[in-house]
Amino acid sequence: MENREDLRNTQYAARNTQHAVPNSTALTNSGSVELLENLVSIPSPSRQESEASSCLVSWMATHGFDARVDAVGNAVGTRGDGPRRVMLLGHIDTFPGDLPVRRDGDWLYGRGTVDAKGPLCAFAAAVAEVDVPPGWQVTVVGAVEEEAATSRGARHLITQGPAPDVCLIGEPSGWDRITLGYKGRLLTEVRLRAPFAHSAGQNRLPAEQAVDLWNAVVAYCDDFNADRKRAFERLDPSLRHIVTRDEGAYGTAQMSLGFRLPPDLSPDVLGNNLSHLLETEGWRLETERASSFQPPAPSPQPSAHVTFSGAEVAFRAEKNTPLVRAFLASIRQAGGRARFVLKTGTSDMNVVGPAWECPIVAYGPGDSALDHTPDERISLSEYLQSIAILKSVLHTLTKNTQYAARSTKEEPGL
Ligand SMILES: [Zn+2]
Repeated sequence: MENREDLRNTQYAARNTQHAVPNSTALTNSGSVELLENLVSIPSPSRQESEASSCLVSWMATHGFDARVDAVGNAVGTRGDGPRRVMLLGHIDTFPGDLPVRRDGDWLYGRGTVDAKGPLCAFAAAVAEVDVPPGWQVTVVGAVEEEAATSRGARHLITQGPAPDVCLIGEPSGWDRITLGYKGRLLTEVRLRAPFAHSAGQNRLPAEQAVDLWNAVVAYCDDFNADRKRAFERLDPSLRHIVTRDEGAYGTAQMSLGFRLPPDLSPDVLGNNLSHLLETEGWRLETERASSFQPPAPSPQPSAHVTFSGAEVAFRAEKNTPLVRAFLASIRQAGGRARFVLKTGTSDMNVVGPAWECPIVAYGPGDSALDHTPDERISLSEYLQSIAILKSVLHTLTKNTQYAARSTKEEPGL
């Protein structure tokens, strides 16, 4: 932890070439904080990341990176040109909502301070400061559209050449925690259309039938979750929106459902089960997996039109890797007791984890309970502590020329 006076120093040591060391940039704490404060001050909700991407790219270009904005708008900076590759993948887009950026003692307030410009800037600051030895290259990416359920930036990356040897995902979980997994996801739009009149033995009104359907979904999930105690193992439904309308003799209900999936339930299987559930609830089903939406043709029968999107399979990383061991040792050396975390949301780990099959964790400063909230703020001393941990991890990974990236050697006590 650094003292606050040091944090308030607004001078960049990096701008003073006397402080530059070969192959790396000596940043002061204030330089790292200034990077974060500047990036948070540029709003960058999904699909509006270009100004923030340019800002990060120019910072990296002046701090020893070979940096550019790539074809989809990701900010990409690389140091070193060796065949061994470390990828530090954060995201530069934020949840919507422009919050005033302000400092209050150790706290920096603003949209994205936690999710996830804090972790992303920690990546950039740490990589700027480490010596990248021959044989290695270290890349920092601020990916676009992580919050948009498209993961456009991460999906582009997995098409660009071979997998890295090791990957860190930039998401908040606190300086002394290591995130090993994220649940899967399925978003489901249901449009119901049913006659108002008593028909085929039905006398529930369309809006009431929509509520009945939601209750059936909850019952299905409760049944699935019987004997499943851990949050990571459970199927969690949410009713995100519901809108009902009268259309003459018919009523419609449009429902947006979200599901968080455990590792043993794929989005495809859940989608099939939901379709089956609708049919057993008496709805004539019109399923479509594309994003385009055509309303159902008029029919006296109650009908349901279903569209699925945002499908991600849950991902859980291997624990016995050189990467995890480097984090455990670095956190321990800094006086912390490392803890492992499995998250109930999704992240770009869901996209690149299965594609790259390399050692991977998510790491970053900040309390993820503040993600997306109006009170989003990060402790600057924790931010700086996470940079120290990352430097130590990168040093450990790259100093070892015998590094066996896909080692699964057991280590007692893990
Ligand atoms: Zn995030």
